[in-house]
Amino acid sequence: MGESISERVAQTMERIRAACARSGRAADSVRLLAVTKKQPPERVREALAAGVTVFGESRVQEAKVKISMCPGHAVWHMIGHLQTNKARDAARLFQMIHSVDSLRLLEAIDEAASAAGRVMPVLLEVNVSGESSKFGLAPEAVPAVLDEANRLHRVQIAGLMTIPPPADDPEKARPHFAKLRTLRDEWRRGTGHGLDELSMGMSGDFEVAIEEGATWVRLGMALFGPRSAA
Ligand SMILES: *Cc1c(COP(=O)(O)O)cnc(C)c1O
Repeated sequence: MGESISERVAQTMERIRAACARSGRAADSVRLLAVTKKQPPERVREALAAGVTVFGESRVQEAKVKISMCPGHAVWHMIGHLQTNKARDAARLFQMIHSVDSLRLLEAIDEAASAAGRVMPVLLEVNVSGESSKFGLAPEAVPAVLDEANRLHRVQIAGLMTIPPPADDPEKARPHFAKLRTLRDEWRRGTGHGLDELSMGMSGDFEVAIEEGATWVRLGMALFGPRSAA
């Protein structure tokens, strides 16, 4: 498609606004995370110029190189699987980590944030369907992690993230998004953690995710077109 990034950003923001309006939500209750994995720094600059401020990367090494080449006012979030031995880099590079999938990783981030002299907001990645992906905490494991998090003072559990199984029809993702919200409401009552943020929805299903309560949508192809195979 011959559309520019700024046109795609404008169209996407309009779709986000419309999905908010349909579901009786305020337009500013959903934030856009532009996923720039496999995209060059020029694309980040174009998106910044179009008004995007927050960017998502899924690999620490790629992010480290890219971030050093991008304007300093871009804000970066980690959305991919993170190994504990990369926690120190992550604590320096990112303003939020969406993909915490073990207590061990949460502890490593806590330690790394402490060394960096900061508090890191994180989301727990939940494998809602039990089949969707290799990563993510089983729902049954989450209450214990929330409990353990109370003794960690350098991580702030801001909410939850999920990736539903790939599907052609966005409606297939709806039950998974709804389940994450229901689990959130339950855990909120049970643990005292607010868990305000729900990171759910990608290019193929973000409108459904917004209808089900997403506060962050993570969009790559909707903004940048297909990623190169490299
Ligand atoms: C790649 C990726 C996205 C964006 O996917 P698109 O289909 O390009 O919107 C969102 N979240 C995660 C975790 C990803 O790895």
